[in-house]
Amino acid sequence: MQLIFEKSVPGRGTEYLPACDVPEVSLPEGLGRKAPPKLPELSETDVSRHYTQLCQRVYGVNCGFYPLGSCTMKYNPRIDEEMAALPGFTGIHPLAPEAATQGCREVLSTAKKLLCEITGMADMTFQPAAGAHGEFTGVLLIKQYHDARGDRKRCKILVPDSAHGTNPATAAMCGYQIVNIPSGPDGCVDLEALKAALGEDTAGLMLTNPNTLGLFDRNILEITRLVHGAGGLCYYDGANLNAVMGLARPGDMGFDCVHLNLHKTFATPHGGGGPGGGAVGCKEFLKAYLPKSRLMDGGDGIQVRSFAGNFLVVVKALAYLLTLGKEGVPQAAENAVLNANYLLARLKERYTPAYEGLCMHEFVLDLSELKKETGVSALDLAKTLIDYGMHPPTMYFPLIVHEALMLEPTETESKQTLDQAAEVFLKLWDLAHEDPAYMHEAPHHAQIRRPDEVRAARNPILCQPE
Ligand SMILES: *Cc1c(COP(=O)(O)O)cnc(C)c1O
Repeated sequence: MQLIFEKSVPGRGTEYLPACDVPEVSLPEGLGRKAPPKLPELSETDVSRHYTQLCQRVYGVNCGFYPLGSCTMKYNPRIDEEMAALPGFTGIHPLAPEAATQGCREVLSTAKKLLCEITGMADMTFQPAAGAHGEFTGVLLIKQYHDARGDRKRCKILVPDSAHGTNPATAAMCGYQIVNIPSGPDGCVDLEALKAALGEDTAGLMLTNPNTLGLFDRNILEITRLVHGAGGLCYYDGANLNAVMGLARPGDMGFDCVHLNLHKTFATPHGGGGPGGGAVGCKEFLKAYLPKSRLMDGGDGIQVRSFAGNFLVVVKALAYLLTLGKEGVPQAAENAVLNANYLLARLKERYTPAYEGLCMHEFVLDLSELKKETGVSALDLAKTLIDYGMHPPTMYFPLIVHEALMLEPTETESKQTLDQAAEVFLKLWDLAHEDPAYMHEAPHHAQIRRPDEVRAARNPILCQPE
């Protein structure tokens, strides 16, 4: 496809600007451009077609099934975007006088109240811009708490081996040593290993429940009791809240602070680079350590982002919560779990789940046997799915499962969509046995086939070369 600059034809354009009816002035010396800007010259038709063609090359939730596990790629209702686009919200400045920002303040306080109720927390900040940023903020709460008590020997954060990679990264960013806690054969935290790791140097534990294997840890009360018994605090990675919102509260599980991914669970599209929202909630005793905006709230203490964070993301979360209501929120979670279990049950006809039993909002398949039999890897299968009009699941994560495919269908998919997806998966199982070479070469019909993923992520070329 040609770049918009390559499509440019000198002199072409669409003239909408009226004739100038004010005196022309020239800019002071040195401020003007030496040459006119190099803008593409195209008709409105050309521009409209160019961008329509570009967006047709992108695969999103609006195009089809997108079971990217741990990412909660669900459909976000348009009404939430409409609310966030209201001029009263988009046109406001954070330093506008308090009397002029009452509506925005009410959005923040109502969203905080509802999300605190959902998580079982006493207070919340919307400053962090993403999940990992929220983790960083939450672990800083833990650090400030220990520091304020003069308890400076606590230098270790415990992280289960099924954790999202951002958890150990966060603990390291906050200056902690990381202790890896192995999972038992059931995919849950190995209690004996946890007990052995706990001590006077334990600052806290970071845990997501349900975990990234899609399993709810039944020992959660015992886990948080053990950590507290050793003087540590418990951090809940709430990126997987889609499975439990309105049904089970991290606060009741014994967690002291939590982050939520507003851009997974609460109506902001995830992917595409933001803006996002990593709301951080905490219990009463950690309230004093929450970040403040020096300019808006005054005072000192930590600040992790400007003003109130990505405010419009909070508007979407509130609109989402108010449209679903007290019954709708747990119902969404129940349907997310139902959909995952339905798809798992259908795929079990051929595929091997990494763990037995019921799952929560997502599940992990272990394709090592298929690979041994046919040579077809999780990557080959994921790439072939693209030819069948489906976004691949998350691959090779969590790290403790080999040849892992992690599927999260979400509550916004119909039974028909899940059935179609299951048919494709089962068909590809047969194809792997009949024609593995075909799958090694897949995708055959995509715009981009098998890029060097590291180079594509680290050295993307995003500018028109001069
Ligand atoms: C997505 C996710 C995160 C990180 O969230 P970002 O907004 O991508 O930084 C952390 N933990 C879990 C379990 C997640 O799924």
